[in-house]
Amino acid sequence: MTGFADWEADAWAHEEPWDQQYFSYPEEPRRPRRRGAHRTPPPPHSLRGRIVAFALAAGAFTAAGQQLWPSAEEPAPTVEYEALGQADAPAPLPPDSPELLDTVRPTDPDRYADLIDSGARYAEELAAEQAAKLRPLFMKFTSGTFTSGYGARWGTLHPGVDVAAPIGTPIYAVEDGTVIDAGPASGFGMWVRLRGDDGTVTVYGHINTALVAVGDHVTAGDEIATVGNRGESTGPHCHFEVWLNGTDRIDPIPWLATRGISLGPERD
Ligand SMILES: [Zn+2]
Repeated sequence: MTGFADWEADAWAHEEPWDQQYFSYPEEPRRPRRRGAHRTPPPPHSLRGRIVAFALAAGAFTAAGQQLWPSAEEPAPTVEYEALGQADAPAPLPPDSPELLDTVRPTDPDRYADLIDSGARYAEELAAEQAAKLRPLFMKFTSGTFTSGYGARWGTLHPGVDVAAPIGTPIYAVEDGTVIDAGPASGFGMWVRLRGDDGTVTVYGHINTALVAVGDHVTAGDEIATVGNRGESTGPHCHFEVWLNGTDRIDPIPWLATRGISLGPERD
């Protein structure tokens, strides 16, 4: 620590002695600090304190090192493995050393099978959870051309909307629900009806094939049927209805709109 001590002495030689900076003597009043405009200001007291502390620590470290590190006169003991015919053998441990566990080379890899299986199951559950979060809550029932809206048509009420599409085009469940009808229906030829988890019933009419059975639970976006031209129909299309509370038929357009679904402009 002589280097630090010398540097301090040079750097602050122009200052008051250390004892006068940090201690006061009743018989000798402290004189005011000199402040020259061209003088380099000394480091703040807090920094000086740290420098002194570091110098002390460095000295302590050196003192400790002199005890810990072997001197040149006393070289560390070595073992001549090759001379003993054990070139790859580790040095024998002293009898008072702590026991070393052999965790690097498991003797039986099968003992980790359960761990690997549970990890794989956890990854699958996590992926399913993420997929469930990403899946849509509502889905347009089919892709095609919006050809007819809800309301009076040809002297009667058209209680749903029509989307024209080629026969066989997939029809999807608009929302999560349970299949309450899947098969022949008067006027529709064939239909599928779903009761949503909130009690709303959705109707998919004139279908060509039903891909679900009564009692099935489906989620939004599941393919439940294909577009057909059965029943009282003038061309392949899907007729879609919404029955609030399972009974009250309403215009599907605003109901779909509040679920983020648009059928686009109506075209004949
Ligand atoms: Zn229709």
